[in-house]
Amino acid sequence: MRTVEEHLAEILAGVPVPEPLDLALLEAAGTVLAEPVTAPVPLPPFDNSAMDGYAVVAADIAGATDASPVELPVVGDIAAGDAGVEAITGGLAARIMTGAPLPAGADAVIPVEWTDGGVRAVRVFRAAPPGNYIRRAGEDVIAGEVVAAAGARLTAARLGMVAAVGRASVRVRPKPRVVVLSTGSELREPGSELAPGQIWDSNSFMLTAAVTEAGGVGYRQATVGDDPAEVLRTLEDVLARADAVVTSGGVSMGARDVVKEVLTGVGSVAFHKVRMRPGKPQGFGLLHGTPVFTLPGNPVSAYVSFQVFVRPALRAMQGLPPEALPTVSAVLTADLRSPAGIRHYQRGTLSETRGHPTVAPADRQGSHQLGALAGADALIVLPEDVEAVPAGAHVEVMRLPS
Ligand code: AMP
Ligand code: MG
Repeated sequence: MRTVEEHLAEILAGVPVPEPLDLALLEAAGTVLAEPVTAPVPLPPFDNSAMDGYAVVAADIAGATDASPVELPVVGDIAAGDAGVEAITGGLAARIMTGAPLPAGADAVIPVEWTDGGVRAVRVFRAAPPGNYIRRAGEDVIAGEVVAAAGARLTAARLGMVAAVGRASVRVRPKPRVVVLSTGSELREPGSELAPGQIWDSNSFMLTAAVTEAGGVGYRQATVGDDPAEVLRTLEDVLARADAVVTSGGVSMGARDVVKEVLTGVGSVAFHKVRMRPGKPQGFGLLHGTPVFTLPGNPVSAYVSFQVFVRPALRAMQGLPPEALPTVSAVLTADLRSPAGIRHYQRGTLSETRGHPTVAPADRQGSHQLGALAGADALIVLPEDVEAVPAGAHVEVMRLPS
């Protein structure tokens, strides 16, 4: 038996981190930056209008009110995108659109709503201080500023930022391509009829989606039965197009533990019992240089194993700190027991009581009870040295992706 840490350390020492590459912006969405992106120019690049209205000299309209408007001749129109804008001087106004460059000489923009909207001359009904509705060059981002740091994931907002500083491509860590394969002769595709003794495959859908949640690209492979030759052939097939492979089932102590049977001693794959519940039987190793994670078949075991071992590894492959799920400290609502020497991950539901997180353990904690996992939003982590925790005690809780 080895600890969770020992198994994870072996995995992290083994997973290769792919080289960064340059990707066009949309291809880079959701990947992790391998370089800082800096702004070559300030944003906005020039002083411009924040409103549709009139560029004026603020002093000219200092006395404007509804009762005594100030009338100014309008010398021209400035639209967004216009270049070579003429300067104005005191006593004049220019009609200006949102985003259009402010003409030299002007120091305020009067929104059209404060005027009569005139074309040749405009009547202004309200005074405004200098700077009114002007967006100054550099007030968003200054030239040379890092707008997205190395190690940041390119979310929609960050991708927009990178485009806004003029970049067409960025250097990123590619998303790991992960093939997910369920093994078990009892498994059928959802949507098909079940014969006695059969169940619908759930693990491969769950794990493929979990790959996406961890920042990878998941590919679900059709299930394979407990046939050694078929399992080995399928694994060899998928290796060519995978940065990692995740299997479920066939790794415990049964007579038909086909994954264990065909992969023991192949490449660097080795099987271990890990001091955890659920998820005791684990396997990991490199096959032709590709990491292969062999997770147990019970759905909750497969899920917990993924979050504890595969997720950190996929993060490492993206150049991110190899953390599992984020944790919080929460007050337990019921007494819990846990076997000595085992790290126990129990399904639970988080809520807030007077601003403090509390966690209620699920009633059903069996590793086959996917219903309780699907209804949970947290895993309560009970360390190896804990055998009983009373209600009211603080426990560490992993938040499940929501
Ligand atoms: P195994 O690890 O192959 O011995 O499977 C342990 C338990 O998990 C058995 O009850 C299997 O039927 C179940 N199981 C294995 N694979 C899946 C799967 N892909 N979807 C749902 N249940 C599974
Ligand atoms: Mg099986």
